[in-house]
Amino acid sequence: MAQTAIVIGSGIGGLAMGIRLQSLGFETTILEKLDGPGGRAYTKRVDGFTFDMGPTVITVPHFIEELFALERGQPGLHLPDFPESVREGGKGVREGLSGGAHTSRYVQIVPIRPFYRIYFDDGSYFDYDGDPENTRRQVAALGEPGDLEGYERFHRDAQAIFQRGFLELGYTYFGDPLTMLRIVPDLLRLDAVRSLFSFTSKYFRSPKLRQVFSFETLLIGGNPLAVPAIYAMIHFVEKTWGVHFALGGTGALVRALVQKFEELGGQIRYNAEVARINVARQGRRKVATGVTLKSGEVLGSDLVVSNADYAHTYLRLVEPQHRFWNADWLVKRRPQSMSLVVIYFGFKADGREGERLRHHNIILGPRYEGLLQDIFGRKVLAKDFSQYLHIPTLTDPSLAPPGHHAAYTLVPVPHNGSGLDWELLGEPFVDKVLRFLDERGYLPGLMERLVHKSFITPDYFEHTLNSYLGNAFGPEPILAQSAFFRPHNRSEDIQNLYLVGAGVQPGAGTPSVMMSAKMTARLIARDFGLLEEPQGNLPAPQPV
Ligand SMILES: Cc1cc2nc3c(=O)[nH]c(=O)nc-3n(C[C@H](O)[C@H](O)[C@H](O)COP(=O)(O)OP(=O)(O)OC[C@H]3O[C@@H](n4cnc5c(N)ncnc54)[C@H](O)[C@@H]3O)c2cc1C
Repeated sequence: MAQTAIVIGSGIGGLAMGIRLQSLGFETTILEKLDGPGGRAYTKRVDGFTFDMGPTVITVPHFIEELFALERGQPGLHLPDFPESVREGGKGVREGLSGGAHTSRYVQIVPIRPFYRIYFDDGSYFDYDGDPENTRRQVAALGEPGDLEGYERFHRDAQAIFQRGFLELGYTYFGDPLTMLRIVPDLLRLDAVRSLFSFTSKYFRSPKLRQVFSFETLLIGGNPLAVPAIYAMIHFVEKTWGVHFALGGTGALVRALVQKFEELGGQIRYNAEVARINVARQGRRKVATGVTLKSGEVLGSDLVVSNADYAHTYLRLVEPQHRFWNADWLVKRRPQSMSLVVIYFGFKADGREGERLRHHNIILGPRYEGLLQDIFGRKVLAKDFSQYLHIPTLTDPSLAPPGHHAAYTLVPVPHNGSGLDWELLGEPFVDKVLRFLDERGYLPGLMERLVHKSFITPDYFEHTLNSYLGNAFGPEPILAQSAFFRPHNRSEDIQNLYLVGAGVQPGAGTPSVMMSAKMTARLIARDFGLLEEPQGNLPAPQPV
């Protein structure tokens, strides 16, 4: 009889995990607290508008293709992670199609250009599209003396980081300190340990260019002033494989992943919140035996994978007597990423939105370092703000009623360790942000054209998504929480308990949580004796 697996949570990481477990031959059930799939990538439909609540920037489409290509009994875990055919970049990006043959059977994915339009507070902007010629032209126009030459050096050094840090080491699972120690010389050689902002400042004198080449980590919860410069690889990830959008929204990708999981025989249950991971003592070992739902229902399984927030998993789902490496005090002292206010809004089109705005817009406020310190360090709500404005209807009008646009704007704010009262602050803050878009001419007349407005605050992350302190991206991606120091995908405390998603290795963001699922699948394959062929950098099984 097939062995059984339970996955707690249907985020993109949980769905990718479910697909991989089915391909490994497990009978898998995904248990989701909400009434639909996606987690942070949940779809909200209201007043004729379709809003993706979370991720919108899709990168590394071949990770998606890999999932749709899996079949039962063919987990493909021994295949190269970055085959020659994808190393040089997506052929499809040039042809205007980004999904591979398997993806296209489930969902249409198209490239977006520019990747982002980045507005500065003085109204000037940078269209970031990964094309070196366009980039050089804009660096020359916006930069200070020496910045063009600095860009050439930045490009060369970021490429070296991408080559080593992503293509060669990206799938390394850091389960022991030795694996970590082995890469330290590389990190030092590539100067990838200093902060990303200080790394970019080596190459650019212009404050604007320092922002252009460091802001992206904010989309995965990283403070550019604190994340290690290894994240300069994002620049190259985007340049190599492009930035993409799923027609119908990221929700269409989520639904496609659910369909694939179910086609492989998996089962998904909604409104099924897990209250406890059950643990039995077998001699000196502690072993996960299944879960108990909030309803009281008990479900047994041969293994459990939690896709829920890392801190929630240990603090709320595993009783303290079963935890040593993830004791309360250790889990609680981990710094958490920032949170967000996200405003979903629908408005009447005036036909001129595409003149100033693009599909993805970053609108930077008057301060950069100061604002980041307010959000991550001082944890106060500043008077100024920066935002990411997403207008998917510029690409796919089907997401709004005719003559309307659907949009969201996302503003980084401190997590709930700040003590800010969002019941009180939420509404006026949201009004201020929307008025800014109207009055500063990004969307003139917006307040009169608005037909739908709703929003989420850190409270949504804390209470609806069960994320500790309302973090939006899991533990903060600082050096002290990267690689070996990031929570582990295989529990150190409990046998047959695994974790997947933004909170564990390698980190947050949709490509990373898909990588996380593959890394966890490899650990499970090894632990359950399901290895297909010898695999490169797998760690040895750990005694529990
Ligand atoms: C607003 C926003 C915008 C973003 N934009 C981008 C982007 O453009 N590009 C990008 O790559 N990344 C982006 N990210 C990051 C990316 O969305 C996340 O890192 C990724 O989606 C997280 O996926 P996950 O699998 O870790 O789980 P999550 O999406 O966090 O899902 C976890 C699931 O577990 C469920 N759950 C929790 N507790 C329980 C329980 N006890 N029982 C049952 N179920 C439970 C939750 O309901 C949830 O469905 C964005 C994030 C946010 C919030």
